[in-house]
Amino acid sequence: MGIVNREKIRKMIMKRSASIGTIVAAVLLTGACTQKPATPPQTLSEAPVSVVQPSQEAVSTVPAIKINDCKIKLEELHGNTEKSQPDVTISYRNKTLVEGTDYVVSAEEESSSVGKHELTITMRGDYEGSQKVPYIVVPDSPVLTACSTKVTTALLEWTAVKDVDGYELEYVPADQKKPARIARVGKDTLSCELQGLLENRTYRFRVRSFKVVDGYSEYSAWSDPTEKALTKIKTVNGATYVDDILIVNKTYPLPADYGYGEDPEALDAFYRMQADAAAENIWIGIISGYRSYSVQSVTYQSFVYDRGQYEADRVSARPGHSEHQTGLAFDINSTAFAFADTPEAKWLARNCSQYGFIIRYPEGKESVTGYQYESWHIRYLGVEKAQKITASGLTLEEYYGLSSRYAD
Ligand SMILES: [Zn+2]
Repeated sequence: MGIVNREKIRKMIMKRSASIGTIVAAVLLTGACTQKPATPPQTLSEAPVSVVQPSQEAVSTVPAIKINDCKIKLEELHGNTEKSQPDVTISYRNKTLVEGTDYVVSAEEESSSVGKHELTITMRGDYEGSQKVPYIVVPDSPVLTACSTKVTTALLEWTAVKDVDGYELEYVPADQKKPARIARVGKDTLSCELQGLLENRTYRFRVRSFKVVDGYSEYSAWSDPTEKALTKIKTVNGATYVDDILIVNKTYPLPADYGYGEDPEALDAFYRMQADAAAENIWIGIISGYRSYSVQSVTYQSFVYDRGQYEADRVSARPGHSEHQTGLAFDINSTAFAFADTPEAKWLARNCSQYGFIIRYPEGKESVTGYQYESWHIRYLGVEKAQKITASGLTLEEYYGLSSRYAD
């Protein structure tokens, strides 16, 4: 048999669908008898007889739904809860899959500690795949435990939350749609004085904790808010009063025409103090009492002339900003810094509150009062208030939450 015969055989195979094995064997046998190398048998695979039909069962199988196609939702998890993992909800299209049947969840570490953790979700049944899902345990919310307000400040205290990097305090006037301001403090701070609040407003305060995870702050929920009104401050004919005390400092000036000489009640209190001091061989006298706006103008300008404005502002008030214009402030004996070390200055510091005076610019409080330590400058407030403020160890500004800063 030659090449032509082989073509004959191929045609014959096309016609016959039975006895494939026999035919293949025949082809091989034929090929073996030709001069040229036989055509490779794979030619046969093109024949319809070689096609294997897939079973009906295999055709109807739905390919497994992969976890990538599913939506995974993790419930937010706060630290220190009873739980060690967030709740997981997985849905495919609109169907919610069943935990245990469609998937299982396992945690790498059973932990409710604040920070980053990982869950492994493994699909089962008609679903396939496995996925690691990171989740973050955020810290617990602190609770505001105290909130005391003054004229422009508020002191907040809150409970500690374990395992955090710090706290944030939010404060905003309750009646305003202004963006809230936020103060951030470290983890060891559990109280904070907020400053620069707007006068005569009611503020809303709240606190939250945070932990830095992978460079980002993870926050607790905010605490329940606390609303509190600030201490009232009022202006009468250009003069400022808080708690019925006339306030004059770098923030609050007096009008140029305010001026009534020394206050009789303050003078009377001073003379009683002077007499009592004399009985203890301490001599004290007023060297500067009431100063009018125009006199203060000259005084301040001479300081500016001598020392420049920056240094002048540390020791002398600009016109309208001097407490001496109130008639309630007196300089005693000497305005030299060395006065602080005299028995007279020490007696004054120890006793003046009993007569209704305070040392108005104490040592180390320049950033608060705006003035260097003036051991000689006393201010009359009345006995009750002077004793309260002296006992508090605070300056007048601190006690009422007042600023003392020139506007420019
Ligand atoms: Zn003075």
